[in-house]
Amino acid sequence: DGITLEQVREYVWEIPQEGDMRVPARVLASEALLEEIKEDKTLEQITNTTHLPGITTNAICMPDGHQGYGFPVGGVGALDAENGCISPGAVGYDINCGVRMMRTNLTYDELKGQEAELVDSLFANIPSGLGGGGVVEAGVDTVDEILARGVDWALENGHAVEDDLLHCEDEGMREGAKPEKVSQKAKDRGKNQIGSLGSGNHFLEVQRVTDIFDPEVGEAFGLEEDQIVVLIHCGSRGLGHQTCNDYLRKIEQQHQGLLDQLPDKELAAAPAGSQLAEDYYGAMNAAINFAWVNRQLIMHRTRQVFERVFDRSWESMEMDLLYDVAHNIAKKEMHEVDGEERELYVHRKGATRAFPAGHPEVPKAYRDVGQPVIIPGSMGAGNYVLRGGENSMDLTFGSTAHGAGRLMSRTQAKNEFWGGDVQDELEEQEQIYVKAQSGATVAEEAPGVYKDVDEVVRVSDELGIGDKVARTFPVCNIKG
Ligand code: 5GP
Ligand code: MN
Ligand code: MN
Repeated sequence: DGITLEQVREYVWEIPQEGDMRVPARVLASEALLEEIKEDKTLEQITNTTHLPGITTNAICMPDGHQGYGFPVGGVGALDAENGCISPGAVGYDINCGVRMMRTNLTYDELKGQEAELVDSLFANIPSGLGGGGVVEAGVDTVDEILARGVDWALENGHAVEDDLLHCEDEGMREGAKPEKVSQKAKDRGKNQIGSLGSGNHFLEVQRVTDIFDPEVGEAFGLEEDQIVVLIHCGSRGLGHQTCNDYLRKIEQQHQGLLDQLPDKELAAAPAGSQLAEDYYGAMNAAINFAWVNRQLIMHRTRQVFERVFDRSWESMEMDLLYDVAHNIAKKEMHEVDGEERELYVHRKGATRAFPAGHPEVPKAYRDVGQPVIIPGSMGAGNYVLRGGENSMDLTFGSTAHGAGRLMSRTQAKNEFWGGDVQDELEEQEQIYVKAQSGATVAEEAPGVYKDVDEVVRVSDELGIGDKVARTFPVCNIKG
């Protein structure tokens, strides 16, 4: 389709700068993954991204990349925070969609035989699906407080312990959140969803650690073979979605001139320094805080479910947060570009921050080894814990992949798979217990709709942007 790809070296492909491109685009992938990336509009989209004013060095597609709204999922774009712009489509509709992993001191043997009870109890107690309510019902004042303070609000209200904040990206609170820039409609959509998974791709999964690749880092992360951990994947629910939508429409209207220069309307962006850039950034930070509270409330509720099922206190099961990291976000960060420190809006959409050892933003507990990165695979595949690699600052503005990445659309998936059969097979062949609000969701999220997570992670590890620490495998899974 006319897009030239040149191999720079193993796993690094470049789309050379031409026409109105401001920088070259790069794709980080093995040949096998690249073939899959070529199947949809990903290459065209990552090329389009290089037209954004102020884009720096390269637009980068991660090994799990696939097509998204304007900007590919698995895309990283760093745009100058003074002369560039910020683009809601390059953050994604689900602002601060992300993952958190909680450790336990239970072993797989201790849990075995109780999977069915555990999955039922989780499903009954963790709100999921559309209209299932949340862990808390909040009035407007509460929503505003959550938007402003993030997990600090949860701590004050008995849904968190101090330690949870220390093990979250940005300690669970973005500075500069502006609740007043989030629309009433967005707040109304969010107020009954605080502490809820939502539907579709979001899930809560009990997993067992199957492999430790790096014993030293594994120890620093508190991971060992056979251990039970819990992985939570969800975002900012209707509140984030509405916020993205609100600002896309406003930006399209007010910055038509900039939009006219871009090859795709879905890349609508607000120029740095404009009122809308400031407003969107403040609103997005507020939605980020909302998502962190969401994952926190789900995690805390999970502790209570484990207490009932195993008849012990969660503290005695050492159910501590390992780490929480966003994969749909834009942040002002300082990065070295051509020997100069510059402030950039780093957009990571379906991409995870992966800061290396020694970086001041890595929590103290992990600073010597690097930031934990959590990469889900699918309900029937492995998942990985990585640590931010030595090369991430040079190659990817401190980022790596966020999952296996989708291989087929939801419609295609529903034609290929039948939810009930997928569930039965997982239980009979892999002892994985899945419970969902609808069979359609299970079909849409069947293991076969995702790429090979082992291959995605291998590329990350080989490039030194995110290094393999541990692998986990599903035990129980609940989804919307
Ligand atoms: P996204 O945020 O783009 O929706 O998805 C993140 C990643 O989660 C997907 O690329 C996929 O690899 C993974 N994933 C989706 N569903 C499940 C699930 O039920 N269990 C696990 N462990 N991973 C999943
Ligand atoms: Mn999401
Ligand atoms: Mn996500």
